[in-house]
Amino acid sequence: MTIFARLPHPAPTPADARAAVLAAPGFGTNFTDHMITIDWSEAVGWHNATLGPRRPIALDPAASVLHYAQEIFEGLKAYPTADGGITLFRPEANAARFNASARRLAMPELPDGLFVDACRELVLADRDWVPTQDGASLYLRPFMIATEAFLGVRPAKAYKFIVIASPAGNYFKSGAPAVSIWVSQYTRAAPGGTGAAKCGGNYAASLVPQAEAMAKGHDQVVFLDAAEHQWVEELGGMNLYFVFADGTMITPPLSGTILPGITRDSLMALAREEGLTVREERYSLPQWRADAASGHLLECFACGTAAVVTSVGQVTEGDASFTIGGGGPGQVAGKLKERLVAIQRGAAPDPHGWVMRVA
Ligand SMILES: *Cc1c(COP(=O)(O)O)cnc(C)c1O
Repeated sequence: MTIFARLPHPAPTPADARAAVLAAPGFGTNFTDHMITIDWSEAVGWHNATLGPRRPIALDPAASVLHYAQEIFEGLKAYPTADGGITLFRPEANAARFNASARRLAMPELPDGLFVDACRELVLADRDWVPTQDGASLYLRPFMIATEAFLGVRPAKAYKFIVIASPAGNYFKSGAPAVSIWVSQYTRAAPGGTGAAKCGGNYAASLVPQAEAMAKGHDQVVFLDAAEHQWVEELGGMNLYFVFADGTMITPPLSGTILPGITRDSLMALAREEGLTVREERYSLPQWRADAASGHLLECFACGTAAVVTSVGQVTEGDASFTIGGGGPGQVAGKLKERLVAIQRGAAPDPHGWVMRVA
């Protein structure tokens, strides 16, 4: 168990103001009172583990993160349980993925236990910020930045690890039952690139494609592979599953250009328990279109921590669109979401040991 120095908060949010935020949390716009910070230097490694008030951080304008984007992050949620407790879902998996991202971005690894302790300490300090209404949660954002003031191009020699928290309602503002997605001509990740790392740079490069999708009237963008531009990879921040009439379900394999989602991995286990045959297999856009037209493809859904499971109703490439199933939410997607959410919130048995009770 890590010992965190505690800096008292000079002026925590008053209870009535907090209640107003928690009544309609939205996503990513409201933040809790506290944050965790831990520094890293070449000389001493990780040090200064602190739980303190959330506030701006001072950075030298030459800090390498500001120039060469040496930054990685994670996203996980603290869930309220019916008996007034709080859980985290597979935080060790986030810790392991964080370190995989760190290795790819030439950053120091954080001991898994320190990552999990940091998340737990923040949740406990801000436990009054965990919303309790249906589907709501406290979103945790651990991240690491290169803080060394140096404009040369090499891995920095100083880093800061931070965890902040943001109460979250429903990720998709409209609460739409199924989303419409736009096939991008841009690529998200190329072989040998950083597609499997959760780094800010991947997201910076996805903003223009995402804005283009929205300008065309769609909710999300889907990326194809960089080499042949025909194999379906993932959305900007969610993995994809396809459900077929013969009881099979497939998802694109983790070939290095796809982010290894923890929701993706968890749903694979749950779908197998539901009797589906799940395979990691390449799937092309022409096949997708043909299977939607023939009715062999029953459902397609996107998955990730933020939005959990979201059915894809319609796909558009250029001027041509196709509809999946009836264009609405799918049954398998609904069933898997219900099962996953029940486990996360302590309302169903947890045979895989995925849930960590925090309070
Ligand atoms: C975080 C992320 C996902 C989903 O991962 P989860 O662990 O399920 O939240 C999928 N794709 C990308 C690009 C991501 O950054």
